[in-house]
Amino acid sequence: MRTVVAKFGGSSLSEAAQFRKVRAIVEADPNRRYIIPSAPGKRDKNDYKITDLLYKCQTLAQEQRPFGDVFEVIKDRYRSICDELGLSLELESEFATIARTIAAGVPADYAASRGEYLNGIILAAYLNFPFLDPATLIFFDQQGHFDGEKTQSVLNRELAHYHQAVIPGFYGSTPAGQIQTFSRGGSDITGAIVAKGVQADLYENWTDVSGFLMADPRIVRNPKPIREITYRELRELAYMGASVMHEEAIFPVREGKIPINIKNTNDPDDPGTLIVKDNGNIRVPGSITGIAGRKGFTIIAIEKTLMHSELGFGRKLLSVIEDHGISFEHMPSGIDTISLVISDQQLNNKLEKVLVDIDRVCHPDSIEVFHDIALIATVGLGMAYTPGIAAKLFTALAGINVRMIDQGSSEINIIVGLENKDFEEAVRRIYRAFVSPDPDE
Ligand code: ASP
Repeated sequence: MRTVVAKFGGSSLSEAAQFRKVRAIVEADPNRRYIIPSAPGKRDKNDYKITDLLYKCQTLAQEQRPFGDVFEVIKDRYRSICDELGLSLELESEFATIARTIAAGVPADYAASRGEYLNGIILAAYLNFPFLDPATLIFFDQQGHFDGEKTQSVLNRELAHYHQAVIPGFYGSTPAGQIQTFSRGGSDITGAIVAKGVQADLYENWTDVSGFLMADPRIVRNPKPIREITYRELRELAYMGASVMHEEAIFPVREGKIPINIKNTNDPDDPGTLIVKDNGNIRVPGSITGIAGRKGFTIIAIEKTLMHSELGFGRKLLSVIEDHGISFEHMPSGIDTISLVISDQQLNNKLEKVLVDIDRVCHPDSIEVFHDIALIATVGLGMAYTPGIAAKLFTALAGINVRMIDQGSSEINIIVGLENKDFEEAVRRIYRAFVSPDPDE
């Protein structure tokens, strides 16, 4: 018997019809033994996420304002799921406890976690699986960091008693017994932790898309799906904005060498995307795995004669941005030039002050600033050690002004910086050059 941990996202459990799909999926494979639900998500784009409503209740309670109306919407959603599924669960006392506790002024984490908690109770009853509260299985330390060691040993020990279980995502508890959540979207992390905890053969992450695509479908028409990708490649693409799953969910499964399969609850026969460790097999020389990118960067270009021989220049420059609490994305350099590529979010209106300080501390000959920069990452293990990749990329970009180039030493990622206005066209050209000359293919 294999062990599959299956996490279902908010859109997969937003209403009774979705619960039916989830049950059919779970019942189709007896290896799907540990099920991690999110809270109910949006049913359509004008709908509310239960988690958002719970945060809202907590904020209102903190401000000593009534939150009964909002809480009523939450109760109605759960009630209608139960009614339509024909479940007679005693949720009213749970609702009363939660409302009372929120009214007493608990921290936001407790309120937010109740979305997963209640959904877990319902899903467990519907699947006829035991319900296990992650407050007793997933732990944070005193500083609020996830406590991997304690969690691993408790999960190992406790889950050995359960052949199957529903374990709500998103939260655990602190040494003081308080509820603490992961960051938003954190049920993905719970799924990964449980998968590692039980040494699962596979971690399935069920969502509303059939995995990753080779490029953003808003830019490239009908991009091809990514059938298989390594953790490393995914990390590079996710950093650049390709997101289906919480970034941090990769780490536990990667350590445990457990493959992740991103699957679509609304199209369960689609194979989705399989995320694996680099086994050397999926390396097709010269091929790329995906393209991702983001707008909204600024380049600060600094020039100083004999910079290359000035001891400590780089350190001084970086200390300036560190003092402003800014981290940088890239730092390409020439002989007497160095550029800092910083996201506008990081820069956050501090640019003027940063420039004054660079001038004071580094005494450069000149500083130039380029606004509205986009970065595009072309990623693939197949790019490493393959001659001609860069030539192909830059031929594709001919006529577009490339302001920055960065290739990591692993050679699985070439990043180019160009003007925001050229972003979409550049992505399409790279796709055509490496994947398919006809974007509809
Ligand atoms: N319900 C939580 C959120 O909306 C966690 C999750 O869905 O993964 O962020």
